[in-house]
Formats: sequence, structure tokens, C-alpha cells
Amino acid sequence: MGPMSTPPSRTIYATFGAEAHSGAGPETGHQSGTEFRPDLAVGQASPDSLKRLKDVLNQAYVGVRLVIAGPSADILAARAAAAECGMVEEEMTLLHRVDGHRRVFCAHCRATTSMPEASAHEIGCSGCATVLSVSEHFSRRLAAHLGYAAHAEEAA
Ligand SMILES: [Zn+2]
Repeated sequence: MGPMSTPPSRTIYATFGAEAHSGAGPETGHQSGTEFRPDLAVGQASPDSLKRLKDVLNQAYVGVRLVIAGPSADILAARAAAAECGMVEEEMTLLHRVDGHRRVFCAHCRATTSMPEASAHEIGCSGCATVLSVSEHFSRRLAAHLGYAAHAEEAA
């Protein structure tokens, strides 16, 4: 009951990528020497880590801000998850890591191949060695771009 009060605005940091945390236990952990401690630090976007992100957001006040740092694929997946929690673009800051990789999901053998963000639009599949054409279609569920055989039409 009490008077309406505006909660202090809070920023939640979610970081993705291998260097986000070095394997020492869950999200917080001790980082003496640095004052930066992300609320959520995970290796990559996955159904499990995205659920943890949603849990954090669902417990947060309305008006919270979210900063997501990491490779593009993870950022896009996290942004989608945050949107499902009702966050809007203005509440999110996306920090793309320039040296990030994108993941490509092979439509033929269902393997996921990692490729440098800046490389060409074709990549050899790590599973079936098909040369994949990387589509701009990004699957939230897979946190990966979809790849199709690049030369299927020529062969037909
Ligand atoms: Zn494949």
C-alpha cells in the first residue's frame, strides 16, 4: 500500500563470449582488481542462458536498462529474449564485439559452424563440408544464422 515511489533506475549488464568469465562458477564470482561485475556472464546464448537472462529481467523493476555485450549472434538472441520480457529498444544498449563470430546453422546436417563476423558470406560446414551460403535470416532459437548449400542451384 504505501505511497508510490519511483525505484532507482538500474542497469543490468549481460555479457557473452568466452572471455566474459573464465570458468569460475556462476554469474558473479570474485573479480578483485576490476570493479566491473556483470549481472550475467555466459559463454554463449543458449536456451539455458537466455532463460537466466529472462529471470533477471523478470525480477527487475520496470524502467531497468539493459546492456548486452558480446558477439552479434549472442546479442541478437539476448535482445529477442529481453523483448519477450517487455523491454523496448530504447532500454537496451547493444555492444557488438568487433572480433565476434557469427554462428551458422547448416540446414543439411544441422551442425553449427563458427565464422568470423567480417568474413565472406560463404563458409564450409564443419559437419558435412557443404559450402554454405550464409543467409541474413537469424534464428533466435538456434542463436545462429541459417546456411544453405551455396551452389545447389548451379548443380540442379
Ligand atoms: Zn552441414
